[in-house]
Amino acid sequence: MTGTLTVLDTLGRPMRDLRVSVTDRCNFRCTYCMPKEAYGSDHAFLPRAEILDYEEIERVVRAGVGLGVRKVRLTGGEPLVRRGLERLVSMLATIEGIDDLTLTTNGSLLASKAASLAAAGLHRVTVSLDALDDATFMRMNDVRFPVARVLDGMAAANDARLGPIKVNTVVRRGVNEHAVLDLAGRFRETDTVVRFIEYMDVGHTNGWRLDEVVPAAEVLSVIDARWPLEPVDPTYRGEVARRYRYSDGGGEIGLISSVSQPFCGDCTRARLSADGHIYTCLFATSGHDLRGLLRESATDDELADRLREIWTGRSDRYSELRSLETVELPKVEMSFIGG
Ligand code: SAM
Repeated sequence: MTGTLTVLDTLGRPMRDLRVSVTDRCNFRCTYCMPKEAYGSDHAFLPRAEILDYEEIERVVRAGVGLGVRKVRLTGGEPLVRRGLERLVSMLATIEGIDDLTLTTNGSLLASKAASLAAAGLHRVTVSLDALDDATFMRMNDVRFPVARVLDGMAAANDARLGPIKVNTVVRRGVNEHAVLDLAGRFRETDTVVRFIEYMDVGHTNGWRLDEVVPAAEVLSVIDARWPLEPVDPTYRGEVARRYRYSDGGGEIGLISSVSQPFCGDCTRARLSADGHIYTCLFATSGHDLRGLLRESATDDELADRLREIWTGRSDRYSELRSLETVELPKVEMSFIGG
């Protein structure tokens, strides 16, 4: 059953997006995300029994859709390392009310999986890619994974009609700033949209430093100087990327300024962790356990009630509060002459 109910949190924000982490494992060790120092060979990943099975995930997603979720994104860890993900996709694809069923991947396994994911009912993919040269990309993924295989995966995704693809690029000062123009140039005049993301502090495991953040305003001015850009109106409330199009009609880019200009006021995202906790903020240090309920034979109504209770109690605006520390970063509006 598809509910039409929209639940609002304490700041009036609806729950529209549900990000489902299907695994805590990843085959990359990106230095800004799962660095080897914190995720070495001795790291204890979740035992299988603690991870939600596909039936449990489907129940949570259905409950979310009943409360207003319209967009479901599978993520991780690296979602494609979880076996048989196509089965989950096909289960979710039958849920009425989901407008957008997508997946964020590092692209490493996409070449062999794109066709089966599309056949299972996946709508689109977002591929993370931080550089087009192997030296930089390998320095960032830290497992010597070559760029060409990610590009092969993207080609397979386009062939399987999983486009238009979005590319996520984290820009880190002194590491891959040169990749900004490389990537913009490579995907100009295609329907692939590159979204440049400010390097964020993810829970004190990545040694984050403010001076390594390249503000979105700077990325914008670098690209604008080479290929003039103009802003595009957001397509929906809660869209995380600010959109810009090339004035010459060469397509679009996006900027995700989570550090310099946090967008908590419009944040409509809930996250389900691989072990069945709901997090109402990317930066939340603790989540709300749903796995217990799921495994104690709770009914669908009880599950939905709990999710509603979690969302209506939500008051997070971590990034905005945190941004008091980042006031010195330039903001996009102030520095973008195009208006
Ligand atoms: N493994 C998948 C992937 O690589 O896309 C999905 C999970 S990954 C955590 C999701 C996205 O978060 C990726 O685009 C990644 O670049 C981004 N990300 C991870 N750590 C980040 C950080 N410290 N700052 C900004 N973005 C980050």
